[in-house]
Formats: sequence, C-alpha cells, structure tokens
Amino acid sequence: MSTILECAICKKSSGTGISILNKFICDECEKTLVNVDINDNRYEIYKDMIKRNIYGDIILKSSIR
Ligand SMILES: [Zn+2]
Repeated sequence: MSTILECAICKKSSGTGISILNKFICDECEKTLVNVDINDNRYEIYKDMIKRNIYGDIILKSSIR
C-alpha cells in the first residue's frame, strides 16, 4: 500500500519531500522555501501559504485546547 502525499503548499501530489507537523511539503517547495529571498515576491506568497496550511492548524488546535 502506498500513500500519495499532497503538498501542503502547491497541492501537487509528489512521492518525495518532507513531512512537517503531519503536513507534507514536496521537494520542489522545500527547495523554494529554503532559497527564496525575502525581497522576492514569492516569499510573501509562501509565507502566507505556510501560515494558512501549516500553522493555521496549530493555532486552531491550541485554541480548542
Ligand atoms: Zn509543493
């Protein structure tokens, strides 16, 4: 049985990547995140996506608790 993981940022299904806090981030997005410059327009986009997709869950969970 294989699990198809959907990237939390680009929503693409990929076989390789990393898992952070039960969220999967594909290799491509991980590379972009590591290399993206703060002055790059993508930085804000990625930051926003991470906030919504990854940290949003934590905030939600901690507020319930
Ligand atoms: Zn991705």
